[in-house]
Formats: sequence, C-alpha cells, structure tokens
Amino acid sequence: MIKKTAAQMSASLTSGETTSVALTQSHLDRINEVDSKVKAFLHVDGENALAQAAKVDAERAAGKKLHPLAGVPLALKDVLAQEGVPTTAGSKILQGWKPPYDSTVVSKLKQAGIVILGKTNMDEFAMGSSTENSGYGPTFNPWDLTRTPGGSSGGSAAAVSAFEAPIAVGSDTGGSIRQPAALTGIVGVRPTYGAVSRYGLIAYSSSLDQAGPFGRTVLDTAMLHEVMAGHDPKDATSINAAVPNVVSAARSADVKGKKIGVIKQLQGSGYQAGVLARFNESLDLLASLGAEIVEVDCPSFEFALAAYYLIAPSECSSNLARFDAMRYGLRTGDDNGASAESVMNATREAGFGREVKRRIILGTYALSSGYYDAYYGSAQKIRTLIIEDYKKAFTQADVLVSPTSPITAFKIGEKSEDPIAMYLADVATIPVNLAGICGMSLPAGLADEDGLPVGFQIMAPAMQDQRLYEVGSALEAALVSKWGGHLIDQVPALGGAK
Ligand code: GLN
Repeated sequence: MIKKTAAQMSASLTSGETTSVALTQSHLDRINEVDSKVKAFLHVDGENALAQAAKVDAERAAGKKLHPLAGVPLALKDVLAQEGVPTTAGSKILQGWKPPYDSTVVSKLKQAGIVILGKTNMDEFAMGSSTENSGYGPTFNPWDLTRTPGGSSGGSAAAVSAFEAPIAVGSDTGGSIRQPAALTGIVGVRPTYGAVSRYGLIAYSSSLDQAGPFGRTVLDTAMLHEVMAGHDPKDATSINAAVPNVVSAARSADVKGKKIGVIKQLQGSGYQAGVLARFNESLDLLASLGAEIVEVDCPSFEFALAAYYLIAPSECSSNLARFDAMRYGLRTGDDNGASAESVMNATREAGFGREVKRRIILGTYALSSGYYDAYYGSAQKIRTLIIEDYKKAFTQADVLVSPTSPITAFKIGEKSEDPIAMYLADVATIPVNLAGICGMSLPAGLADEDGLPVGFQIMAPAMQDQRLYEVGSALEAALVSKWGGHLIDQVPALGGAK
C-alpha cells in the first residue's frame, strides 16, 4: 500500500479497498521501521493521525462527499505552525513551543481531510541546502545514507522518497523544495509567490518564502498544490485570484507546439557531467513529443546568488529579532536578577546555530547605515534586472528549463564547513525566488558517475503554475515509459517496503 501514489491511495479509499486507518497505520509502521536510519521526522504524531484517519473513515461510511485526498497521509515541514503540536523550524530556540493556532496551509490540509503524520526535519529556519544545519541532527538521503537529502526541506523530501509518506509540504525561499526533490528523485514545486498563504509559515525571508508540495508523481504534487493554494486575507502578500487549474494541467500532459527555453546561464561549467547528460536527454524527449527547444539569454542571472545572499540575510536579521526569550520557546540565563538584555543574549547564544548567527550578522551589516546602498540597495537593483531577464525570456518561450541542481546528492559533512560551497547548491533555483515566479523539479534519471538522482527544473511566469504541470507530466510520462516505471521505484529498499 505505501508504494502506491497518492492518487492510487485516493482511489483505494474511495472504492473501499482500504481504510484511512489502515493506510495511516502502514505509514506509521514504515516510519517505525526506517526512520531511525533516515531521520526525516522531528515529531511523529501517531495518535492524532489515527484519530483524523478514523474521522475520515466514519465520514466516508456516512456517505459524506469528501476531497480526493481525504484520508491520505502527509508529512509536514516543521516550519509550519500546527495547533498544539511541537513546531521548532529546526531550531533549539523554539524547542518546546506549541503554537496556539494553525497556519493557513495546515487549516487547508485539515479541511481536505488529509492526515498529518508529523513534522519533518529541516535546516534551522530553512537556512541551508543539506538539512545539516538542523538543531536536531541531519536527515539522511534514502538513496545513499552517507549523503544529504538536500535542504532545507530535506526531511519532507526524504520522507516521500523513503515511502514514509506519499506527499509532503515544504517551503522554498531559494530552492528548498526543488533542490531536495532533485537530490531524492521526487517531484517538488515552488508555487508562484503569493499563491500559497504565508500565514503561520515561520518567516525566514518574507519576500522570497513560499510553501509548496512534494510528491512521487507530477499528478500527486498537483493534487496537493491545489489544496494548499488560494487567497488568504490573513496574508497581505496573498494574491487575490483563482488558483491555476494544476490538476487538470497534470492530467493533460500537453507539450505539443510549446516553446521550451533553455537558459544559457544555467548550464556548463560547475555542472556535473551526469546532470547535464540527463538534462539534455530530457530536452531531446520533449522535442520528440513536439515541443520546440530554443535558447534564451538571462545575463543578470550571473549575479543572482550574490543578490540573494544579501537580501535573504537582511530580511532574516529583521524577522528573527522576535526570538527574544520573552515570547516563544527557549529562555536561559534568567537568574539572579539578570537584565532583559543579558537573558536575550544568553538565549540567542544557546538557541541559534552557527549558520543562523552568520546570516543575522551578515544581514545586520548589509542594512546598516553607510552600507545599505552599497549592499542591500545594489542587491535590489539586481533583483529588478533578473525580473526583466525573465520577462524578456518569457516572450520567447512558454516555459524555461535548466538542471535543478548543478550536482547530485553530496556527502554528509562534505560542504558543511564551507558556506560558499553550500550556497552554490542553489545557483539554478534562486532566480525563480528573486522574481517571484513558479518552478518545478522532477526526476530526470540517475547520473552515470554516481547512480544518484538528477532533477530537471521547469519555470513559468507568475500565476501560470499550470504550465509547469502540463510540461512536467508530459516529460514524466515519456520518461516513465522509457524506464518502465517511476525512478523512485529504483530507490534502495532500506529494510524493505511492503
Ligand atoms: N539554501 C538556500 C538558503 O540557505 C535556500 C533555502 C530555502 O529555500 N529555504 O537560503
């Protein structure tokens, strides 16, 4: 049962072949069996999950009309507030915090009757590309347990690729859904900025953050995307427009006559040979399906990484000021009449990890008077140039494409001492976030040199998310028929999936 797709699980629930309680229990058993090796979850919420499953089963038995994903289990990134359930954003500073409210994404999951299995591991406050910056230890890649699953949503990606959950929620500020999807051989989508509410999503960089779906297939990802998206008056940047019809786009799998733009700047030197080989094969497949492949030039992308690593730390230095030992979670050094300031210092010293401190310092410096124009101001100008590059490119193509990550899954510890090397993992995903548009990563095969998954990235203009799914599902269908199954079926057994 756990090997099925979410769409197949939905059909089995509807036909009465299984119940949500049985399905949820199989996933809890699987978590019990493999998560001591994978470490995808920070908190498994078995009791609530089974209660929710029983509720959906009772509603189904009573003939209530249910959402297609009702009763299907899901893994939730620990960056989203869930009422009464420990929520840490991977940080020690939030240890012990139980939110008094649900984020909008969680409310929507609950309304649809989706069963939340638990909270998944992540880089602290979503800062990182490997999940090694978690305050609670790393997550391990199910394809090779000596490697990282990518990050920052590495726990969610690993849970889906290890068959601990069929679908999961992540968040993507600079690539944190697409890059771990690529490194674990699954599908991940970063929706258009403002398409999914940020209410209750613990803030890292508010002008870039966006929650989105993971799945093992393009259709599963679309089904979850549709549940999560929609206007929310509680989020001032939420877009008040109809949700693009991503599910029917995923079913249409239509690429004939579409123009696919290959971004000149997102390939070549720095990209692993096996990544480029799988990327080019996918392009050939798309061409054989009737798409027209063109090359587009985005000269400002060369500066995207530098601009991102000024804008994101600047925003985080402001957002993380709220962790002051007075409001949430951890509080230390509070004795002998200590001043508020010294309690704040002691709590932040103990509660924030090294990368988070580095970024707060970097962002505070970039925003300081005297340096503001030179750093933050210049980065914002680059951001505008990147938006302009995309605008022009989208006059030449319906979607743009690139490899998702220049490299396949790297070893635990390989980059954790070198922040710049880690930052480079997002070189191909960051431009999407800076422009506020949408992007998908889907598996394009295994690299010859290491046998690890390669991700193919598709990008579309704001609120044209359906284009990702049209092209993504067409490519997926062609690849699946070539391989005789989904890539994820080749993942090592990890103790044997039943
Ligand atoms: N790796 C990038 C960073 O560290 C992106 C993280 C993200 O998307 N949350 O900022």
